[in-house]
Amino acid sequence: MTQDIAQRIAALADELEEHLYRYHVLDAPTISDQEFDRLLTELQTLEEAHPALKQPDSPTQRVGGTPTSDFPTVRHARPMLSLDNSYSSQDVEDFDRRVRQSLPDEAVEYVFELKIDGVALSLIYQDSVLVRAVTRGDGVQGDEITANARTIPTIPLRLRQPGIDCEIRGEVYMESSDFAQLNAQREADEEPLFANPRNSTAGSLKLQNPNLVAKRNLRFFAYWIHAEGGNQTRHSECLETLRAWGLMVPEHQRCASLADVFEHYDHYAAARADLPYEIDGVVIKVDSLNQQERLGYTAKSPRSAMAYKFPAYQARTRLLDIHLQVGRTGAVTPVAILEPVPLAGSTIARASLHNADEIRRKDIRIGDTVLIEKGGDVIPKVVEVDLSARPDDSVEYSFPNQCPSCKSPLTRDAEEAVARCDNLTCPAQLRRRLEHFASRNAMDIEGLGPAVVEQLVEQGLVKDLSDLYELDVASLGALERMGEKSAQNLLDGLARSKEQPFDRVLFALGIRHVGATVARTLARTFVSLDALCKASVEELEATHEIGPTIARSLYASLPDLPALDRMLYKLKNKAKLQFKMKAEEAAAPPSHFSGKTVVITGTLSGYSRDEAAALIESLGGKTTSSVSKNTDLLIAGEKAGSKLAKAQALDVAVLDEAAFIAQLQEAGVA
Ligand SMILES: [Zn+2]
Repeated sequence: MTQDIAQRIAALADELEEHLYRYHVLDAPTISDQEFDRLLTELQTLEEAHPALKQPDSPTQRVGGTPTSDFPTVRHARPMLSLDNSYSSQDVEDFDRRVRQSLPDEAVEYVFELKIDGVALSLIYQDSVLVRAVTRGDGVQGDEITANARTIPTIPLRLRQPGIDCEIRGEVYMESSDFAQLNAQREADEEPLFANPRNSTAGSLKLQNPNLVAKRNLRFFAYWIHAEGGNQTRHSECLETLRAWGLMVPEHQRCASLADVFEHYDHYAAARADLPYEIDGVVIKVDSLNQQERLGYTAKSPRSAMAYKFPAYQARTRLLDIHLQVGRTGAVTPVAILEPVPLAGSTIARASLHNADEIRRKDIRIGDTVLIEKGGDVIPKVVEVDLSARPDDSVEYSFPNQCPSCKSPLTRDAEEAVARCDNLTCPAQLRRRLEHFASRNAMDIEGLGPAVVEQLVEQGLVKDLSDLYELDVASLGALERMGEKSAQNLLDGLARSKEQPFDRVLFALGIRHVGATVARTLARTFVSLDALCKASVEELEATHEIGPTIARSLYASLPDLPALDRMLYKLKNKAKLQFKMKAEEAAAPPSHFSGKTVVITGTLSGYSRDEAAALIESLGGKTTSSVSKNTDLLIAGEKAGSKLAKAQALDVAVLDEAAFIAQLQEAGVA
């Protein structure tokens, strides 16, 4: 019996890995996503019921990692050197001359490889199973991020050839479209944007929760192996081997001459904007491993390879004006208005100026000729001022100390260098708040676009969010271009929005740091704004998927919440709204778990942890992952370990599975 199950688990694991390979590496899936999910669920269920049979390279490892608060430092077996790099063809010719002088009378061939702008990673495989992933770090030692690396579908958990002990190196990267989407989401959530895909990749690899890493769509290109008893004699063969083992390798060509190298370089310099990922140049490597060995190393880099980089996309134009944008949380950001200029396939008319410090440091003035730079989908930025073109009458830019909309004095957040308008009734903020409130992921109010919002605020019809729900056909009739039909559409849209669940309302209120995901998590845990306002930093941090950084900043902005709580009160009462609040929906009868903070540990035979957690939450309890003095109750299944010991040490009540089921039966859910 057990043997049958073990066989089924192994077969499912193999099949799922094969499908992941087909989908992500070959880009040729043979089953539907639905079918894949069905197989994955079957495997998860079997593994949960039989934890002893779970394999370390199971595909379920890709999603089920547990959050970690630190990444241990690990020394690389062989240092990860960096490459000499240059933007100049002269340097490439010098490199070629040095190579040929060191290898007199030998034929030298190069491999030309795209240089992905990502984060270098070392993977250790033992008996073909991935056992460790370490970032480059300082080249001598890096951070172990194995759980996060496992979430990257193009990193095989097991190589497609058995019995291999090796180290594989390559680059983790994010495609430009995934990067643009991530930044768009962060912008909507008013979170700081990543400057480029490399930054977002590095940031993602250091997330403490592998489940979040899995959502970042990271990918991996391999370009180096060191295998025990490897029989490759050329770098190009190593790349073929990596491909045969199930990894993706960067686009590459063998080049017999430097002329070939330059030809490919020119081709990719022109075509790089069409690639789905960013490359910052190419790598030229001597193909023969024996020649590589004999060329040896300098203190910092191998003598057999160099990076030949592309120039950044840059253009020169005139800065016509500096506009200040007021966000919905009051952040005031300067934007450069430019004389339109073509750059990397699009016309650029605006560029980011970040903040007042940046403008002062670069001494950027209105009327200046500036150099702008753009990479991938990043908003272009002003790199420097062309001082030789500065008009004689130019004056230093002084950052306004008043909000451009409401004229309240701006405050500066020392940590963030961001200027802020703190006036909650600021019309610009109100407009942005209303736009956000109405947006599709928030209350999804049809007919309430920016043009209508602007008129409503200008005419004084709406002074806070709750005023929206007092609009009627008569008041809307006062607006320009608003016929009776569009007015009715808007009123219908408002009426429908009252059906939105609590997490949507929470997100729609536009609290700093509360994006859609955080709102869902908070709504699940705190069920009301009142409960949220009373939460401690520890409770926020203990909330599933909310990291310490968000928890701390959220806690810092909690004093603002009573104002929002009043807003919600007004929305519900003054405007006689009946929001479908999750808290009311789930107004569960009092149970053994009501209001308690519960931790589940060990293996339960009747329920998966997620099922048990869902049941506890449905009965008014809250589940967290670690035992602390705030824990009220520990559910201890089979093989409960350190958490049980800690709970006993802290005098936390403990239920075994039988007692847990008895309580569930008492509450009528088991
Ligand atoms: Zn203002």
